[in-house]
Amino acid sequence: MAEFKNAAEAVKYAESHMVVQYATNNDCYKAGCNISPNGCVNHSIGVAQPNANSVYNLMNRSGAGWGVNAILGDFHLGEGKIILCMPMKRRPWGCASGKNGSWNDSRIQWEVCEPAGHTYAGGTMVNYNVSKNSTYFNRMWKLLVAWNVYCCVKLGYDSKTIADHAESYKSGYGSNHSDMGQWLPKHGKSMDALRKEVQAILNSKEEEEVTQAEFDKMFDAHMSALRNNNCSSNSEAARKWAVNTGVCAGYGNGVYGWPAFVTREQMVQFLYNLNEKIIEKIPSAGNIDKEAIAKDVIKSIADALQEV
Ligand SMILES: [Zn+2]
Repeated sequence: MAEFKNAAEAVKYAESHMVVQYATNNDCYKAGCNISPNGCVNHSIGVAQPNANSVYNLMNRSGAGWGVNAILGDFHLGEGKIILCMPMKRRPWGCASGKNGSWNDSRIQWEVCEPAGHTYAGGTMVNYNVSKNSTYFNRMWKLLVAWNVYCCVKLGYDSKTIADHAESYKSGYGSNHSDMGQWLPKHGKSMDALRKEVQAILNSKEEEEVTQAEFDKMFDAHMSALRNNNCSSNSEAARKWAVNTGVCAGYGNGVYGWPAFVTREQMVQFLYNLNEKIIEKIPSAGNIDKEAIAKDVIKSIADALQEV
């Protein structure tokens, strides 16, 4: 895993490698049926053809006999690309049907291009060069993971309903093909690995970083929420005293914000007000230095606060 920190990053990667190029000459496209996808079927093309446009051209003609929502390819040239060749909810002609029905009715599907150089004997790859194809495969896997995350996010289906053509057959909802299970294990991957990686990325959605602006907004909301009278009964005498002496004015509607924080500004304002009140209350007599007395009292309070 570790390719993508979270779903947003995977979605962005898929989007930045995607072109919309509808195969309007394709009969499946033209049939125009739509489904409510609750999963997907991953295919690989079953021939050594890395070029996405070549596969697209095979599909974008009348009589092709198949049609998928996307083609992933060009991994021999770079990071690869996704051709979105039918709308996301267009019913594909992908896995045909099995004894229980067809996932064409409920799952969107795509073809993944395979590298050049191998042939096939039945559903098995022949002369497939693993080390030579590792760069191609790694690029393909990265985009395949991102694309599968993209579809889960956009269509809201579960990673459990990600399947391949071979699994559609095993479940009785597709024809007997071996893709993509004929290819993925050559590079230590599998459909289980795909589902696991996709789910791990979807899980990390909640750990997405909060921006400073979002944090400020949440902090403001938190501070506003503290404008209430929640408090402990232990402080009852102190609170009564603070309200009765006018030391705490509250917010003017009987709300004092007892659980809220005190700012430095509020603190010095409080001490300043107290200083003024003390001077006001000391009777003038002889050579009493009212300001010096007030200063002493305030200093005692400040010292006491420091001890708290
Ligand atoms: Zn297939």
